[in-house]
Amino acid sequence: MPLEDLENQVSSCIGCRVCEEKCPLYLASRDPGFSPWRKIEIAGRLIKGIDVPLEDLLKAVYGCTLCGICERACPTGIRITEVVRALRTRVAREEKTPAKITRMCSNIIGEGSMIGGGNEFWASWIPEGLSLPEKAENIYLVGCMIPFKMPDLGRATLEMLLRAGVDLTILGEEERCCGLLLWEHGLVEEFRKAAEENVKKIKRRNTGRVIVSCAACYYAYREIYPKVIGERIEVKHVIEVLDELVEAGRLKPRKPLKERVSYFDACHFTRYTGKYDLPRRLIESIPGIELVELPRSREFGYCCGISSGVKLVFKSLADSAGRMIIDEARKMGVRKIVTSCPLCMYQFASIIEKDNIGGIEAVDLPLLLYRSID
Ligand code: SF4
Ligand code: SF4
Repeated sequence: MPLEDLENQVSSCIGCRVCEEKCPLYLASRDPGFSPWRKIEIAGRLIKGIDVPLEDLLKAVYGCTLCGICERACPTGIRITEVVRALRTRVAREEKTPAKITRMCSNIIGEGSMIGGGNEFWASWIPEGLSLPEKAENIYLVGCMIPFKMPDLGRATLEMLLRAGVDLTILGEEERCCGLLLWEHGLVEEFRKAAEENVKKIKRRNTGRVIVSCAACYYAYREIYPKVIGERIEVKHVIEVLDELVEAGRLKPRKPLKERVSYFDACHFTRYTGKYDLPRRLIESIPGIELVELPRSREFGYCCGISSGVKLVFKSLADSAGRMIIDEARKMGVRKIVTSCPLCMYQFASIIEKDNIGGIEAVDLPLLLYRSID
């Protein structure tokens, strides 16, 4: 939506700055340049034709994970993430997008993943000797992070689904990024093309059902594809499927894991859908586990800080936001931060490794479950 069409939204800001106290990037930095309120204020100035220094504009526009926590708190209901996307569209039109964001988007458009790599990249996680039918009821999509950094997660997930008798196949080297980042960065036509291509490939396998590991893929297929290309693909997050399989007794977590863990609510999965109890129930199906809530969780849980390219442009800011969560978890004696998004898992794992933090691990929920299945 063009920025000008959001004028009513922007002008309803009362300057209370309640949003600020919920924003993980503002709280991690205490820098007003990253405040959600500042984004709205800048949008207001641009709508009125008042110039904004480029540095301030880029900070406000790209220092945002689009986690949406701020807009839940806003008393006048301003759709702050929509304003940020409109600002990004404007910046892109003026060709002022930061080079690293442009490169990430070019990788998605040209090579089908934010990291690049084409067919070879997408085939890299597939277990040797795997033989699956060409067509099946469900297609398991791994998303960009599993081939990039965590093939074990993809393999463990696939093994559990097959062991439980789920009728599925994969797109393998034909898989491509869901394209959500293109949509988030104002490249709507490029997003439309990527989405149409993905849907075509899925339908070629005679199905309209996908199971995804990535929370961003889940959100894209569930919410954005129907809006932008008018196609509704039935999508389940792998956590939903694993929960059903455990409930039905088709997967049995029997090996006790004596661990104190916390579940981290991924923005695009639990927080956007309100499915807070589901992953927690699945964690508690593992014998021996002790689940404790992080101080900020569920509706107002922090974002991990990496999403929407923030780590590319403001690396230390993104890491400070992720570190806040790790620190809070450590204070509570938590040994594992359990995620349901490979991108969040990557964010926490990379901070833990870089800062050499002992005694705590980031683990995606399917991998945790896998350790308990005999
Ligand atoms: S909470 Fe809403 S009304 Fe208050 S400053 Fe933030 S955007 Fe404006
Ligand atoms: S969407 Fe998230 S990161 Fe962006 S301003 Fe709102 S709370 Fe901050």
